[in-house]
Amino acid sequence: MTYHPSYEKIFRKLYPVYRKMIGRDGQAILLERRKTQYLPLVEIEAIQLAKLKNVLINARENVPYYREEFARIGFVPEDVASLADFKAVNFFIDKAIVRDNVDAFLAQNRDDKDLNWHRTGGSTGTPLNFPTDKLTDAASASAIMKALEWWDIELGARHAMFWGSPSFIRRKRTDIFKQWANMVRNRLMNRLFFLNYDIGEHNVHKIYELLERFQPQYIRGMPTSLAVFAKLAKKEGLMLDKGRPKFIHSACEQLFDWQKEIIEEVFRSPVVNTYGLSEVGDIAYGAPCGNMHVMDEDILVELFDYIGGEKEIVTTQLNNMASPLIRYRTGDIAASITPCTCELNSKTIQGLKGRAHDFILSPSGKFLHGQFLTHIIVYEPGIRKYQVIQKTTDSLDIKLVIDEGYENACQARIRSAIQSYMGDEVSIKFLIVDDIPLTAAGKYRWIVSDLGPLDEHI
Ligand SMILES: [Zn+2]
Repeated sequence: MTYHPSYEKIFRKLYPVYRKMIGRDGQAILLERRKTQYLPLVEIEAIQLAKLKNVLINARENVPYYREEFARIGFVPEDVASLADFKAVNFFIDKAIVRDNVDAFLAQNRDDKDLNWHRTGGSTGTPLNFPTDKLTDAASASAIMKALEWWDIELGARHAMFWGSPSFIRRKRTDIFKQWANMVRNRLMNRLFFLNYDIGEHNVHKIYELLERFQPQYIRGMPTSLAVFAKLAKKEGLMLDKGRPKFIHSACEQLFDWQKEIIEEVFRSPVVNTYGLSEVGDIAYGAPCGNMHVMDEDILVELFDYIGGEKEIVTTQLNNMASPLIRYRTGDIAASITPCTCELNSKTIQGLKGRAHDFILSPSGKFLHGQFLTHIIVYEPGIRKYQVIQKTTDSLDIKLVIDEGYENACQARIRSAIQSYMGDEVSIKFLIVDDIPLTAAGKYRWIVSDLGPLDEHI
């Protein structure tokens, strides 16, 4: 796969025009952020406070859930004179509350065309279909552009992704249109794409050769998949040379030290962490200083006490007026939020602990990122919680907690989508249960693999 060198220049001109056309113009926000990121922290916090008050007042005026709850607890947004004042307000929401009250979280004066619906589910095993608005999407686009600029990389640069998302899922083996649409999308975005449901010994040489030929300037991927590839490549003596990127963005899940080490060794490039949630937007990106800088102008990140003496990350969107998430408990853990000594003055998240994802192993030896199953299950109505248990490579048990929206036919759909990636020999058993208990540590595990650690399979 090769691109004409002028493609990047054309992309840089046309992509912002396209984003403007769809009303999600990240470039315009980026122009502002290039300045505000160097402001003293006290000025950045003044921007946050002003935006926060607008969000809170809008929520009370236009969003039924907040109107009712603010009145119930006697909270008056106009009384918030500082971020410390807000910190003292005892108000929280979480995924289950939003899921049970979706309509009540949408502003009554919204324009439905502004909403971009996301299906999520991996984080807590609770499927959620909830939108972000145009401005939130534009801010997320500006966040990634800003984070790339920290590494002297421009919009449209060649890059590679080790990724998967519900929009990439092929529902049936014969879904040729989806495969074709994904191919076109990747070519237009100037990227080499590796689906993280299909990495194994069968294609490790091919992935390596494509990277060497394409020479991505940066890579974005989920660390579980990057580490699987890196381990397989190392075993074959394959270390990136010409295909070595400037850096690697680790996204969507917890980055463990052992993963960082093996990825850096094989890709010969630094791994930096990123943090975001699809229903919230981009939250923080690793910078060359080694710290994860928060997108303070777009999101307020606070820490509150959590189970076992840990601190939970709680976010409030600062741009979203149509479907605002205020004081949204993420279930993710951090040690502290501190200023940085580098030239960027936004706050940094220290000691982030996101979600750890297991992988699923197919009978033919393919490693499938655990999110694969989430991406299939979130399409189905009436599933409140789920858990997937793999005891052998050719069987999966799927526990479901259901409600009145559940359709029996979903079992055949889920089975067909799974078998299209894992092979027909995989047997899938469904169990309808009343609840799925938390682990002793108070965590919810939505993938339980009895197959043992990665090392035993590579
Ligand atoms: Zn820094």
